[in-house]
Amino acid sequence: MIEARNGMALKENRLCVFCGKTPDTKTREHVVPYWLLEITGDPLRVVTFGQNFDRQKQPIRYSWSQYIAPACDPCNNHFSHLERRVKPTVEALLRREALPASAYITLLDWLDKVRIGVWLLRHMIEKHPIKITPNFHIASRIAEKDRMLAVYTFDGDGMGINLFGSDSLIFGNMPSCFGLRINNILLLNVSSDFFCSRGCGLPYPKSIKLLMGGPNQGTLKFEGFGYATEVSNPITNLDLFKPVVWIYQPIKLPWEDPIFRGGFYGHVNQYDSRLAARTLQGNARQGAVFRQYADRVDVFQDPSAMIAFDNVVGDDCAMIKDIAASVYEAQINLFNAIQHEWIEPEKPSDFDEVLRKLKLDHTGELAKMYRDAGQHRP
Ligand SMILES: [Zn+2]
Repeated sequence: MIEARNGMALKENRLCVFCGKTPDTKTREHVVPYWLLEITGDPLRVVTFGQNFDRQKQPIRYSWSQYIAPACDPCNNHFSHLERRVKPTVEALLRREALPASAYITLLDWLDKVRIGVWLLRHMIEKHPIKITPNFHIASRIAEKDRMLAVYTFDGDGMGINLFGSDSLIFGNMPSCFGLRINNILLLNVSSDFFCSRGCGLPYPKSIKLLMGGPNQGTLKFEGFGYATEVSNPITNLDLFKPVVWIYQPIKLPWEDPIFRGGFYGHVNQYDSRLAARTLQGNARQGAVFRQYADRVDVFQDPSAMIAFDNVVGDDCAMIKDIAASVYEAQINLFNAIQHEWIEPEKPSDFDEVLRKLKLDHTGELAKMYRDAGQHRP
């Protein structure tokens, strides 16, 4: 077993986790914030984070308090405001209180921050065989893509934090979905390009293709924009256990074509009352908050509208392990939804095919491991 000591694994990776630049003045960012460690147990407790691929995949053991990434001083200051804003929201969720839509939007921003921070840190601490040079950092990934949150609650007063999904090969490649358990709640979070715009009745591309090879390797090609006149129910085909709160928020993309007034595709304008009715008040860039119920969808345009917990009883109640499994299954769903367009070479190599299968198999095995587990992990 390898004990990663204070900053040991970060020596070669001194770039700021927020902006990706070399810091002038270096600080350290707790990717899972210290205030969260304090309300979930002993901040110095030691847990396992992934595998070290340099040393026969031995588990990397870390103290939560040392789960830190480099950050520059201005970035760290800037993002400490988000931490201050989200803390009372998480505390209210733990007390099962209703919260305004604006608090859920802050929570979605913060989950973008934690999810991408976990992804970047994972690439720093694991000597992973599949090298990825991150093409985005936290600052460029908050509130940039459609997003979703499902909140689950559990009985009992179990303390602790667990990350689910961050250890899969799909997540290593595509940090679009993870689960974060905080004491007796679990937040299942998804963020991906145009993931819910279609269902929310906002403009979406009919075709999204990931370009493979060629000068634009790794970028997405969008074609054929349109939008549905009605909001769909359900909003997406994501198959989840019933949460106490299930919300989606579509995010509009900047677009240069002047046909899109205001510079965003789907920018609200006075000629289209339907789009206006699906946009957040006071923020033309962000969609409204769409709440998914078992039988309907409610649209919250007003950031001060209150969102209370739904009742989940009887057969709808799921255990932590089952929800953890559904995180990995959602990753597979999102991964399979992305089509590839091969430029150069014109088709995938044998290696590409094997790698794709490896990612799917690995993530599927993790889903199965949780599904088959007798008890959830402490
Ligand atoms: Zn920075």
